[in-house]
Amino acid sequence: MWLDCAIIGGGPAGLNAALVLGRSRRHVLLFDHNRPRNAVTHESHGFITRDGIPPRRFRELAHQDIAKYPTVTIKPDKAIEVTPYYGGFRIKTSNGVWFQARTIILAAGLKEFLPSVPGIQRFYGRSLFSCPYCDGWELRDKPIAIISESANAFHSAKIVYNWSKDILVCTNGENCLSEAQQGQLERKGIRVNRHRIRELVGENGMLNRIRFENNAEVKRTGGFISPRWDQAVSFGEALGCAMTSQGGFVTDAFGRTSVRGVYAAGDSSIIAPTQLIIAAGEGSKAAIGANTDLTNEDFYN
Ligand SMILES: Cc1cc2nc3c(=O)[nH]c(=O)nc-3n(C[C@H](O)[C@H](O)[C@H](O)COP(=O)(O)OP(=O)(O)OC[C@H]3O[C@@H](n4cnc5c(N)ncnc54)[C@H](O)[C@@H]3O)c2cc1C
Repeated sequence: MWLDCAIIGGGPAGLNAALVLGRSRRHVLLFDHNRPRNAVTHESHGFITRDGIPPRRFRELAHQDIAKYPTVTIKPDKAIEVTPYYGGFRIKTSNGVWFQARTIILAAGLKEFLPSVPGIQRFYGRSLFSCPYCDGWELRDKPIAIISESANAFHSAKIVYNWSKDILVCTNGENCLSEAQQGQLERKGIRVNRHRIRELVGENGMLNRIRFENNAEVKRTGGFISPRWDQAVSFGEALGCAMTSQGGFVTDAFGRTSVRGVYAAGDSSIIAPTQLIIAAGEGSKAAIGANTDLTNEDFYN
C-alpha cells in the first residue's frame, strides 16, 4: 500500500506534521527511533501551556493526541534509506522492511558536537545549555560561563547579558574574539579567559567551578555553550535537496524543498532559532504543504 506521507523523525516537528495530516485524513507513517537532541534535559521551557514540561512527558501527550487519528501510525524504528520510487519514495527501516510513500517530510533534527572540554556532556542539559531563550530564566543573575570556541562567542555573551551581568567568556584556547569585541565586552564588565579548560567541577550535572590549564579556578554555577550542528540524517542531500549556507534546507513557506514531494521541518530545516514551538509550527506548515500538493495532484487527475 502506498502511504500519502512518510515522516522521518518524531520530535515536535514530525509529531505536529502527523497530527495535521491525520486530521486531513491522510495515511501517514511516522518513523522515530526516539533519540531527540533535548533528551539530556529535564525540563523544556517556552512552549505556551507546556512551560517546564519534561521532554518525555511532551512526547507522551503528543502520542495521545495522534492516537485519535486512525490513519496515522507511529513506528518506533530507524529509517536508513530513502530513495525515489515510481514518482514517490521508498523508505527502508533498520529491520530491513521497505515502505512506499507519495511524499516525505524530513524532520529528523540535528546532531550536535559540543566544545572540546573534558566531561562537558555531564553538565549539558543540567546546568550548561545552548539556548538562553530556553534556559536563561533559570540561570538569571547567577555567575555564568559562556563556553564557546567559535565566532558565536561575542553574540552569545551579548545576548546572555540580559539574564546575568556576571559573565565569564571562556574561549578554550581558541582565538575567536577580535580585539574590538574583547574591548566591547570588557566595557560591559564581561571578562574573557582565553586559556584551555582542564576540567569542569561539580556534582550531578550542576557546575560549581571551572579549572583552566594554568591551574586558575573560577566559580561558575551554569552557563551556555556553542555547539556545532549537522543534519542528523543525510537523506535530503542524497535526494538532491538544495541546502542553505548554514546547512539547513532551502524551503518555501510550506516546507517544500527543491525536490518535488520532499518537505522539511524543525531544527533540520531552519538550523536556528531552535525551539520546540518553532519546530512544531514548522511541522504544521510542512503538513499543509504536503496535503495541498497531494490534493492538487488528485483533484485534477
Ligand atoms: C539541552 C537542550 C535543551 C533544550 N531546551 C529547550 C527548551 O527548554 N525549550 C525549547 O523550546 N527548546 C529546547 N531545546 C531545543 C529543542 O529540543 C529542539 O528545537 C526541538 O526538539 C527540535 O525538534 P525537531 O522535531 O526538529 O527535532 P528533535 O526533537 O531532535 O526530534 C528528531 C527526532 O527524529 C528522530 N530521528 C532522527 N533520525 C532518524 C531516523 N533515521 N529514523 C527515525 N527517526 C529518526 C530522533 O530520534 C528524534 O526523536 C533544547 C535543546 C537542547 C539540546
